[in-house]
Amino acid sequence: MPLYDPLNRCIDYLRISVTDRCNLSCVYCKPRERMKVLPHDELLTYEEILRLASVAVPLGISRLRITGGEPLIRRGILDFISSLHALDGIEDISLTTNGVLLEEMAPGLLAAGISRLNISLDSLDARRFREITGSDSWDRVWRGISRAEALGFSPIKINMVPVRGVNDDEIAAFARLTVARRIHVRFIEFMPIGAHDRWHTDACVTADRVREIIEREVGVLVPFAAKKSAGPSDNYQITGGTGVIGFISPISKHFCASCRRLRLTADGKIRPCLLSDTEIDVKAPMRGGCESGELERLLRLALQVKPERHYLHETPSGCYQRTMSKIGG
Ligand code: SAM
Repeated sequence: MPLYDPLNRCIDYLRISVTDRCNLSCVYCKPRERMKVLPHDELLTYEEILRLASVAVPLGISRLRITGGEPLIRRGILDFISSLHALDGIEDISLTTNGVLLEEMAPGLLAAGISRLNISLDSLDARRFREITGSDSWDRVWRGISRAEALGFSPIKINMVPVRGVNDDEIAAFARLTVARRIHVRFIEFMPIGAHDRWHTDACVTADRVREIIEREVGVLVPFAAKKSAGPSDNYQITGGTGVIGFISPISKHFCASCRRLRLTADGKIRPCLLSDTEIDVKAPMRGGCESGELERLLRLALQVKPERHYLHETPSGCYQRTMSKIGG
């Protein structure tokens, strides 16, 4: 039985953040100077996340995405993913990672049941990668992507956030990756989350602008219809190419009417909308010994308060309480 919110949106997707920590410090995501990480005892334990999932899945949540912070740095992550897989009713579990630990962990991820990967990568240039992330690990990420391809992960989606004046000169190079490889490259519009000092409307390169650049510098884009497309990405292929180019445009064309998601933050809050600070605490009730019926009530409450749409255009930038690494991107 699917779950519906009051606006008749089918909600079947939960993004689970397992940590707010990350082994990168991307300038727009986890600003270096003012990030404090949560003490370990404020994070949900794996048992607590599994408990919540075991209530959510029979209600209709069938697809999960593991995210963070950087999910691969949390100890025990592979066993946790295997335990999630064992829940009756789970159709799909995918993972979002920065790829730094992918080379060594890819076989374990496959064994744990993950075959769909999203890898965030904002530059194809090692020096620029260092400027954006504060880390010299571009080569590791690239080897991780190659290893995942060799092991047969599919699809492999590379998520790039183009920011004007930072990496927008690499849009064509990212698009070219899809010509000969089966990789999906997805361009995500820069959102005013956690980037108080960096975000301004002009920094966001809209999907239309990215498309223009690709068509001018790489080739004509033809619509690509996935067999099963549930996500917010508008997909294309370069004529003759093997991979896919996707545009995710929360700023220029919001897709709230078809949103199917809830989020669970690492510190145990259900967040019905990425772009609203309304959250429902499930950690305190669980630690207070609540019954499963109470968790079901809280999950249903999250549907009741899920906003109709985001209000980014009406909201001054930087008013969100959490950065993306703390929400779970
Ligand atoms: N560590 C994992 C990773 O790198 O994929 C998962 C978490 S990370 C917060 C998820 C994604 O959020 C990254 O692709 C990052 O680029 C994106 N992100 C962070 N802040 C953003 C912002 N202000 N606008 C758009 N995307 C953002």
